This record gives sequence, C-alpha cells and structure tokens, in this order.
Amino acid sequence: MKKNLLLNTVLCFVSLLLSCKNDVPQKLSFEAMNTFMTIQSYGINAEKANAEAKNAILHLENKISVNEKESDIYRINNASVFPQKIDEDTSFLIDFSIRIAESSNGALNPALYPVTKAWGFTTGKYEVPSQSQIDDLLKLTDYKKIHLENNSIILCEGMEIDLGAIGKGYAGDKAIAVLKKNGITSALLDLGGNIQLIGSKPDGRDWIVGLKNPFGGEIVAAVKVSDCAVITSGGYERYFQTEDGKSYIHIFDSKTGYPVDNNVASCTIITKKGVYGDALSTTLFVLGKEGAVQFWKKNPDFDFIMILDDNSILYTENLSPKISLLQSFKSVEIIK
Ligand code: AMP
Ligand code: MG
Repeated sequence: MKKNLLLNTVLCFVSLLLSCKNDVPQKLSFEAMNTFMTIQSYGINAEKANAEAKNAILHLENKISVNEKESDIYRINNASVFPQKIDEDTSFLIDFSIRIAESSNGALNPALYPVTKAWGFTTGKYEVPSQSQIDDLLKLTDYKKIHLENNSIILCEGMEIDLGAIGKGYAGDKAIAVLKKNGITSALLDLGGNIQLIGSKPDGRDWIVGLKNPFGGEIVAAVKVSDCAVITSGGYERYFQTEDGKSYIHIFDSKTGYPVDNNVASCTIITKKGVYGDALSTTLFVLGKEGAVQFWKKNPDFDFIMILDDNSILYTENLSPKISLLQSFKSVEIIK
C-alpha cells in the first residue's frame, strides 16, 4: 500500500516536471548568415534539439556563403576549371532557384552576383557603378548558361552565383527537420525576421506573427498561422544612401542591374516550405504589384501580403480570416 502511494507520488512529480518542460520554451540565439537568429522550441528534448538545429544552419552557411573561402559557392565563383563538384544542398538550391527564375522570367536570378557585388552588397563597400560597368556585368548574368548535373556544375567565365535570396529559408527548413527528428512538435524560429513554425503553440492555439512596418516603427499587421513559413523581403532591411540622399536597396531588378524601384515597400509570403517562401518573397518584390498578382494567379500555392510605398496593402483572399490590420492603410485590396 505504502509502496503504491510512493510510486504514485513519484509518477505525479515526473509528469508535472515533464508538462512544465513542455510549456516553457527553450531559446537559443546566435548570429548566422549575417543576421541574428532565435530558435524557440518546446518539449523535453528542446535544448539538445536547438543546439543541433543551430549546427545545421551553420553547416549550411559554410556551404553556400559567398564570402566564406571554404564554401562551395566561393569555390565555384572563383574557379578557373570546370566542372566542379558541389554538395547536394548547394546543388538543390541552385536547381531550385533556376526553376523559380524560369517561372518568373528571370525576376529571381541566382546568377546576378557580378552586379550585386559591384554595388557593394555583401562586401559593404557600397557604390553606384557606372552604366557601362553595369552593362558589361549584366552580360555575365544569364542563368540559362548554368550547367548543373549530378551535383556537378559548369559556369561560363566571369559568372558568379549568389543564393542570398533563398538561403535563409532553406536554413529554416533544415533546422526544422532536425528539430522534428528530435521529437519537437512546437517551435518558432526567427531567422532574421523570417519566421518558420513547427505546429501550433503548445496550448494548441495558432501562433500570431507580426508584420513590421516597412517605414519604421510598430507592427502594422498580424497573421494567425501554424506549421508554415512567414517570410518577408523589404527594402528597409538593407540599403545605402548616397550624398544626394538617394537610397539604393539590396533587391535588384535583374534586367536593369539597378536596385528595384517599383513602389513595393515589403512583400511577405506564407508557404509550407521556407525555401519556397524565401524565393518568392524576393521574386514578388522584384515583380512589383501587377507582376506579383499575375504570378500568384498562375501559381496559387502560397499566400502573400504586399505593402506599397504609398502605404496601401494587398493580400490574397485565403488570409482574410487570419489577418488583423493594426493601423489604417491608404487602401486595402484583397486578391482573388
Ligand atoms: P531577400 O532578403 O530574401 O529578398 O534576399 C535578398 C538578397 O538576394 C540580396 O541581398 C542579394 O544577395 C540577392 N538578390 C537581390 N536581388 C536578387 C534577384 N533579383 N535575384 C536573385 N537574388 C537577388
Ligand atoms: Mg528571399
């Protein structure tokens, strides 16, 4: 009798401990991919899972960074002999971005790096290149000339690849796979403003993800979602200004070789996979309002929210029951 009572007490104590551990998030913050990241997971295995997820992100960064001398991308961008063998992840990402380039008529272009590098993004040595320099560099950016087969790549002379538009989203997918392998069923990953979610909150309710005001200040909208990626591209994230006060953002029109200047302030994508969301956030930003709507009508397997420079907002109709607007906008358009 006494033994049973003791056993029950111990069991109660253990299950209380476990349920506490399930409700209290384990947070891990670190710098990677030129940004600040936080992984917040729930469950008894969360601490170990977070550490492994962080390693997965760092491991991927070491393969695809344009600056890291040991990375696949640095190696192929600086190689004089081809073909070059590349890792499976690098190969997947190059192939994936070529497919999005094809479906967006080159709005997303993984071969744009000679141009973005000349503007100083990735090196920090910002400058406005001359028109003749841009014209010459644009000749090196034809993604159709990338030859990729069996994890082996051939680039023409002078071509360089940058996976900056999709790398963070894929890093999130990699981290999520590791967390899930460790039994995590509820987590929120904030990878420099890209939000990726496993399941719902531990209490079963949806997560509430805020959308930043692209003009600075408060959160301007929120979406209630679960088990998805909420990924934003914004001109406000990285830009430089010249002495005459003109701003140049880090997202480029691959046809002109100039930073995009099309009235888009931010574009948020909601998808199942981070890599798709990240690719589309950049693609739709480049396409602008009309192009984005057309693209979505042809490929309606995601949702998007776009804020324009005149403070108007548009979003796809599936988001109507999930979105709350937290300020007044010049106009609100629902895309059907
Ligand atoms: P994101 O913040 O996801 O929109 O990605 C922006 C990054 O993608 C930039 O910092 C560049 O490295 C790269 N990038 C800029 N414009 C393009 C483009 N049109 N196609 C592909 N990559 C781009
Ligand atoms: Mg992107």
